[in-house]
Amino acid sequence: MALIVQKYGGTSVGSPERIKKVAQRVAKYQEQGHQVVVVVSAMSGETNRLIELAKTIQAQPDPRELDVVISTGEQVTIGLMAMALMQEGLQAKSYTGAQVQILTDSAFTKARILSIDEQSIRTDLANGCVVVVAGFQGMDEEGNITTLGRGGSDTTGVAIAAALRADECQIYTDVDGVYTTDPRVVPEARRLKNITFEEMLEMASLGSKVLQIRAVEFAGKYKVKLRVLSSFSEDFGQEGAGTLITFEEDNKMEQAIISGIAFNRDEAKITVRGVPDKPGIAYQILGPVSDANIDVDIIIQNVGVDGTTDFSFTVHRNEFAKAMDILKNKVQKHIGARDVIGDDKTAKVSVVGVGMRSHVGIASKMFRTLAEEGINIQMISTSEIKISVIIDEKYLELAVRVLHQAFDLDQEIL
Ligand code: ADP
Ligand code: ASP
Ligand code: MG
Repeated sequence: MALIVQKYGGTSVGSPERIKKVAQRVAKYQEQGHQVVVVVSAMSGETNRLIELAKTIQAQPDPRELDVVISTGEQVTIGLMAMALMQEGLQAKSYTGAQVQILTDSAFTKARILSIDEQSIRTDLANGCVVVVAGFQGMDEEGNITTLGRGGSDTTGVAIAAALRADECQIYTDVDGVYTTDPRVVPEARRLKNITFEEMLEMASLGSKVLQIRAVEFAGKYKVKLRVLSSFSEDFGQEGAGTLITFEEDNKMEQAIISGIAFNRDEAKITVRGVPDKPGIAYQILGPVSDANIDVDIIIQNVGVDGTTDFSFTVHRNEFAKAMDILKNKVQKHIGARDVIGDDKTAKVSVVGVGMRSHVGIASKMFRTLAEEGINIQMISTSEIKISVIIDEKYLELAVRVLHQAFDLDQEIL
């Protein structure tokens, strides 16, 4: 008998039929004697609908109230899921995030989980009940409703699995695992049977939304056994199904040099030109940006010529206008820069693989492949296990496809 946390995403609970299917799967697990906690997202499209609804009242919704509105999607699905489980003859009970005391900080719309009181869940499980918990939401110390950022139900699932020391956390979605890249962009993408935790962390942070990055962080911190699976497949509980996130120490097998390609369309690039090349300039440019709570991603400062230099960085596209406004109206004159230019039609493509550590020539192969397609690289950033480039958004899909081919990701590893 095992304790399993199963998280079902939006499409997996997108209709009453889908919810019934999920209930049937849960019933099979219970029949085998397992204890199951189910974490659900809102029905597909619902969170987007609620955000748009909020914007019809307040163009820039108040963050506290926005969380009140967008957390409701999950409250609907937990109730429906509990009912569907009852229809399968199971005992079931639903809980909102606040009801199981998923305590978070107060960063509305992107709150972090601080603790979970798993006692009531344990009691219900011991009584033979399936526990259904709302993903994506929590409560801060003052009792305010918070949400965990888009895709945050993954994090609820893993955090509950960590708190319960569950045997496995299964993330059910609309693809049957983690692929070498988004299979919607490259149909030849291959499912990975395993991916190391570090690679998954990079893939998630570089834009592969199959798992929210904080879910991967939690899994790493608490060594949660995490598997990504399809809720649409009829297979059930098969060994080796989906993709298992592994930890390097228990992964002695031969690794591919590159495991996957991640991409992110939401990058915007800003360049401050003709900046005096002297100490403190990076701080004077980025300080006001970070004070405005804008996250900065890739940063490049050129070598100075004649006492001036250019300074470029990227931000999320949603924050481009705000960042440009700060730089043009607050920073430029203050530091004596020549001008500020920006481009919000850029994208980031990254190749990821732990095998890169011990192989040279990955960067040159990546750059050559892009050059052969006439794709200009605007910025580069590297770490031990990834290389990212910023390119014109219109070449994004082409870049992902040619890199996927160049690194033989469509070939089965022998
Ligand atoms: P859910 O609603 O179940 O949380 P998401 O839409 O958040 O599902 O995540 C699943 C989607 O992630 C897939 O449909 C796929 O298009 C996308 N995706 C992006 N990169 C990858 C990848 N490397 N492997 C698998 N899916 C990926
Ligand atoms: N419903 C939330 C969203 O759409 C959380 C999730 O699906 O994980 O972002
Ligand atoms: Mg998701």
